[in-house]
Amino acid sequence: MRLIIFGAPGVGKGTQAKILSSKLNIPHISTGDILREAVKNKTSLGMKAQEIMNKGELVSDEIMIGIIKDTLSQPQSRKGFLLDGFPRTLKQAEALDSLMNQLNIKDYSVISLSADDEELVKRLSNRRACKNCHTIFTFDEIKGKDICPKCGAENSFIQRNDDKEDVIRNRLKVYKSNTKPVLDHYEKQHRIISVDGLGSIDAVNENIMQALKGK
Ligand SMILES: [Zn+2]
Repeated sequence: MRLIIFGAPGVGKGTQAKILSSKLNIPHISTGDILREAVKNKTSLGMKAQEIMNKGELVSDEIMIGIIKDTLSQPQSRKGFLLDGFPRTLKQAEALDSLMNQLNIKDYSVISLSADDEELVKRLSNRRACKNCHTIFTFDEIKGKDICPKCGAENSFIQRNDDKEDVIRNRLKVYKSNTKPVLDHYEKQHRIISVDGLGSIDAVNENIMQALKGK
């Protein structure tokens, strides 16, 4: 199965990607992970990327497409793949179209994990981090407690800047405005599988598996 996954902040896209990759036995191609790995291993690509990032610039679409081409051409991607983190813009989506054509990959679907904004704001703004061990907990996990379940520190819960309501609202806004043209692009190609991203990890996974039936 060949898949691309999208999800708003807070829907647990990364978690779902890992589960799907293992259930469907297809490689999880996370462009962020590949880039970090290349930088760590100091490959020629990694060095090039590092140089660009050192200058505070974004790694170009051309380099990203190169990475994806390499990965999709490897034998482990022959049976399928789950692409995560790319494309982020319409231009990248169009570049990916040509790559797919080049590789003669015609049959692939795009999973879009969606959720109500207010639910996401509620979910994300309720998170707390332990300032001692940096573990992030949902409100339910630590409700009424003042001792960290992970490291035992007392009174160590804080709200990170990233989890403040206005920051979350802004992230959702940015996600939507960036992603909408990309999702519209795939909608025109009839590739979108829309799945409700709220609910427990298992429930969301079940929704995805159901939606993929017959694909
Ligand atoms: Zn802790």
